[in-house]
Amino acid sequence: MGSIVLKKVSKVFGEAKVIPSIDLDINDGEFVVFVGPSGCGKSTLLRLIAGLEDVSSGQILIDGKDGTNLAPAERGLAMVFQSYALYPHMSVRKNIAFPLKMANMPQAEIDKKVAEAARVLNLTDYLERKPRQLSGGQRQRVAIGRAIVRQPAAFLFDEPLSNLDAALRVNMRLEISELHQQLKTTMVYVTHDQVEAMTMADKIVVLNRGNIEQVGSPLELYRNPQNLFVAGFIGSPK
Ligand code: ADP
Ligand code: MG
Repeated sequence: MGSIVLKKVSKVFGEAKVIPSIDLDINDGEFVVFVGPSGCGKSTLLRLIAGLEDVSSGQILIDGKDGTNLAPAERGLAMVFQSYALYPHMSVRKNIAFPLKMANMPQAEIDKKVAEAARVLNLTDYLERKPRQLSGGQRQRVAIGRAIVRQPAAFLFDEPLSNLDAALRVNMRLEISELHQQLKTTMVYVTHDQVEAMTMADKIVVLNRGNIEQVGSPLELYRNPQNLFVAGFIGSPK
């Protein structure tokens, strides 16, 4: 459960080769961070994995099976967006329950799953509130809750904290890391923030103009950056 393999994946928009060709292994349970400057193709790569964009060529294996042409809902992955995309008229409980309702899960089971997600995310006391009655961090947790209840093979995060203020961002970083430790589910996390990448990742993928510059643990990249781009980006003195 939860491995994602990219084989010579490319993406072209019109004339622009945004992703020339990427090979990448994401192992089950890993916390993988895509990092790189704005416009380098992080979101595009994540959207290709999610199935929100079609690859121009190449293959995406999910749990060892070809998922290249599967619709997003069939991939068993959950995308958490930076804009919270909550339903403003629904309570937190209903927002979290929404994907399960859509899947026609029996109400008793829905209640159980929502209660469990709320417990993990410290939202138990907020279940009857509307999104506007929540802080930014709480709203982000609701968005994550909505992903958790589906028990995805992997979570895909696209800069989930970029709308939050600095202090809250540090908090949420820790919360997401703790969540990963609890759930042990694969997480693929996009950020342009080196500190976020260094503190959260098992494995960092440094992207530059749609190419992978280096893949490694935070320590490997820090100690042994393979080129100046990585060194500059990670901020080591080499
Ligand atoms: P990042 O998330 O790293 O900031 P993106 O993946 O959003 O980068 O974008 C990478 C490049 O692809 C940018 O040059 C962007 O303008 C281009 N791009 C992204 N989506 C589209 C699209 N739907 N059509 C045309 N160009 C796009
Ligand atoms: Mg982006």
